[in-house]
Amino acid sequence: MTETLYCYCCRVHHPSEQMRRFETRHGARWRCLRSIQAARSSVEERDQFGRSQSEINLALARLHKESIIVPMSERRLQRY
Ligand SMILES: [Zn+2]
Repeated sequence: MTETLYCYCCRVHHPSEQMRRFETRHGARWRCLRSIQAARSSVEERDQFGRSQSEINLALARLHKESIIVPMSERRLQRY
């Protein structure tokens, strides 16, 4: 039988190999790797999304200004 530890984040027991000690204001607690990684990646994704979205908006604004974007309907009429 695998040793389990109580995860304060999920409030369930996980196998001890998935657990990491996590320092909190109330002392050391056990937290699973999955919850730590989920918290970390959600922050990174949000940052990356915000950055890429503003870059896309900038690029689109530039293209619109230079009239590089041709509407799909017009493009379909052209023969390559
Ligand atoms: Zn957990």
